[in-house]
Amino acid sequence: MSRLVVVSNRVPVPGKGKANAGGLAVALQAALNARGGLWMGWSGVSSGAREPGAMTIRQEGPITYALTDLSRKDIDEYYAGFANSTLWPLCHYRLDITDYARKDMAGYFRVNRFFARQLAPNLKEDDLVWAHDYHLIPLAEELRRMGVKNRIGFFLHIPFPPPDVFFALPVHATILAGLSAYDIVGFQTAYDADNFCACIEREGIGRRISEGWIEARGRRFKVGVFPIGIDTAGFEKAAKDAERNPAVRKIARSLIDRDVVIGVDRLDYSKGIPQRFLAFDRFIRENPAHKGRATLLQVTPKSRSDVPHYLEMQREVAELAGRVNGELATLDWTPIRYVNSSIAHAILAGLYRIARVGLVTPMRDGMNLVAKEYVAAQRQDDPGVLVLSRFAGAAREMNGAILVNPYDTEAVSQAIAQALSLPLEARVERHSAMLDHLRKNDIAAWCGAFLDALSETNPRL
Ligand code: UDP
Repeated sequence: MSRLVVVSNRVPVPGKGKANAGGLAVALQAALNARGGLWMGWSGVSSGAREPGAMTIRQEGPITYALTDLSRKDIDEYYAGFANSTLWPLCHYRLDITDYARKDMAGYFRVNRFFARQLAPNLKEDDLVWAHDYHLIPLAEELRRMGVKNRIGFFLHIPFPPPDVFFALPVHATILAGLSAYDIVGFQTAYDADNFCACIEREGIGRRISEGWIEARGRRFKVGVFPIGIDTAGFEKAAKDAERNPAVRKIARSLIDRDVVIGVDRLDYSKGIPQRFLAFDRFIRENPAHKGRATLLQVTPKSRSDVPHYLEMQREVAELAGRVNGELATLDWTPIRYVNSSIAHAILAGLYRIARVGLVTPMRDGMNLVAKEYVAAQRQDDPGVLVLSRFAGAAREMNGAILVNPYDTEAVSQAIAQALSLPLEARVERHSAMLDHLRKNDIAAWCGAFLDALSETNPRL
C-alpha cells in the first residue's frame, strides 16, 4: 500500500492546541496510521521573521508531522487575505464582501510554492498526496513544476460556485488551471462538481469527456463527489455518555420544562445567525403558546477575528440577541441563550440530545457537520427534529430533515413550529432513515472512498 501524504493548512498535532480533535482529523490519522504517512502544513504560528520558518518534524508512531511557521506577511496575505477574505466569501456566494488585492493573491501563490518546495524533497516515488481545501489549490501545479509525478488528489470542503459568481475573481482562470493539475478533484455535492465543470468549460480550458472525467490542458483528471461524514458511532456514544456528564446535567436542569432549539456554528456570516435570530423572534411572536417555553441555545465560538468582516459580525450578532431578549424576555425566561465559547464534543453531544430541534440554517455551506452530529446524537426512541437549510451540502443527504430557505424568515419560523409539533411516530421515521445513512456513510467510509478513487487514477508518467 502506498504511503499517504496529507497536506492541509492546519495540522492537528496530537497533544497540541484544541482538545476537540474533529472527525476529519481522527479519520485522516487512522488512514495515516494504517499506511504510514506524513501530514504537512502550517504550524498556526508566526515565525516573527520576514521569511517563513524551517520545517519542524515530529514523529508520532507511524505518522510524521511536518510543520512550518509562516511570516506575518504570509499570514496576512495568504491566510487572512486571499484564502479568507477572497476565496471563502466568493465560494459562499458573497460577492458583496469578496475583497481582492493583488498583493494577497501573490502571497497565496507564494506560500503554496513554499509548501511545495518543502514537501517535494520529502516525497517517495509512490506516495499518494492528498491536499485539503481552498488554502492549497495551487499546490499540485507547483509540485508538478518541480517534476513531481505522484498521484495528487484535492478535496474542497467548501462550496464551489457557478461561473457567473466564480468569474468575478480576477484570477479565476489561474485557480481553475491549478485544480486541473490534480489527478482527482473532490467536492461535497454533485451541485459543486457541476459548477466546477461548468467553469472549466465556460472558460474554455477543458471539457467533460465522460461521467466524472475532464480533459484539460493536455491531461485527464477525475472529478468526484465525496460528501464528508462524521464519526457516527463516536457521536452516538458521546451523546449517550453525556447523559451522565455532570456539566450536561447541570445545563439540562437549568432548561427543565423548556423546549430547547439548538444552533451551533462558528461566528461566520455564511451561517445565517442573524437571520436565524429574526426567525426565532418571529416564531415566538406568532406562537404565543411557546412564549416562556421555547429557548434557542446558540453556541457560537468566535472565529477569524483578524478578518474585518468577522469583527463587525461579532457586534451585530450580540446586539441582535440583546435586542430580541430585551423585547421578549420575562423575569424567568430568556428566549435566546447566546454563548460565545467553544464547547467540547463530549458536552456538545449532550446538548444536541436534549434539544428538541436542531436549527441549522446557513445561507450557504459546503456540508455542515453540525446537522449530521445533531442527528447522530438523538435518542432513537424519542428523537428531535432537524430543521435544515436547503443551501447546506447536508441537505442533499438528510432526507428526514425539514428543509427551509434561510432567506425566508416566515418559512423558518413555521418550520420551528412544525418541528416542535411533530408526533413521536413521524419524528422516529424521519430520524431513523437519516441515522442509517450516517452509519453507512461515516468519516472512515469517506476517507476510504477518496483514497480508493485516488489510487485508481493513473500516475503522470
Ligand atoms: N464545534 C465544536 N464546538 C463548538 C462549536 C462547534 O466542537 O463550540 C464543532 C462542531 O461539532 C463541528 C465543527 O465544529 O464538528 C463545525 O463544523 P461545520 O461543518 O458545521 O462548520 P465549519 O465550522 O467547518 O464551517
